[in-house]
Amino acid sequence: MLTERIYVQNIESAWLENNHVFLDVLRLDELHPVVSGNKWFKLKYYLQQAISQGYNAVATFGGAFSNHIIATAFACKQQGLHSIGIIRGEEPDVLSHTLLYAQSLGMLLVFVSREAYKDKQNIIEQYKNESWYFINEGGYGLQGAKGATEILNFVHLSNYTHIIASVGTGTMLAGLIMAAHANQQIIGISSMKGNTGLEAEIIKLLPQNKQHPSFTVFHNYHFGGYAKHPAPLIAFINETWKQFELPLDIVYTGKLFFAVMDLVTKSYFPKQSSLLMIHSGGLQGNRSLQKNELSFL
Ligand SMILES: *Cc1c(COP(=O)(O)O)cnc(C)c1O
Repeated sequence: MLTERIYVQNIESAWLENNHVFLDVLRLDELHPVVSGNKWFKLKYYLQQAISQGYNAVATFGGAFSNHIIATAFACKQQGLHSIGIIRGEEPDVLSHTLLYAQSLGMLLVFVSREAYKDKQNIIEQYKNESWYFINEGGYGLQGAKGATEILNFVHLSNYTHIIASVGTGTMLAGLIMAAHANQQIIGISSMKGNTGLEAEIIKLLPQNKQHPSFTVFHNYHFGGYAKHPAPLIAFINETWKQFELPLDIVYTGKLFFAVMDLVTKSYFPKQSSLLMIHSGGLQGNRSLQKNELSFL
């Protein structure tokens, strides 16, 4: 079982202590060097559904560095399913590490122009005779959120006042909201710039007939936009590795940890708060950087 490798890392820091904040990090990144922890959880029930409905092939969408593409390729191989990755953009001369690895896991890559990629429904229509089980880009949807509820099985949940995670589609956050206790605060850090519809997308995944903990999404920690990684972010990621041996990725968790530190600086958390930050993985995306940019690559 891959999940045996998951553990909780306490961040030992006099600075946090002086700010009366306790911080644990749930290391889902330890699940696998290439498969993002949260993607693994999000895929579980989609694949179960695909198999129980008699499909033998799963198709999904993503970009050239997509954690979701690679996790789908990996999980499908493990379950004996064929996988198809519908990739945004024309086929490049040289494939990214991500796509090469997905291909090596048996994924069939189908490249579509950026323009055509925008109309997913049309693409699905185009392949309707293939009997492929389609999963949304990023694993967005109810089955994904259901899978993400299981992330919190790996901690002693009542130890924490706040649960903080990075947000792309919001599927993981929806799962965390469903699994958390009513008195816990759930905080999402969006990796995108100005994704104003995000809260509504999250709420769509929550059961409407049940009370759930309140949640907050911060939209001001994107460092210029999705996957943008200016020098200050790289420096912050290197410094975090040096201080805490915590490896972060440039798209999600680097921005997340920065936000946690910034919110502590701004005394956002009441004294004696006990924070759980979800390290959702994504480290494979760092391979898109030059060799010497990160100290732990
Ligand atoms: C995909 C991903 C996220 C975002 O998850 P969503 O469920 O789409 O919000 C966060 N962190 C990492 C490492 C990811 O790969």
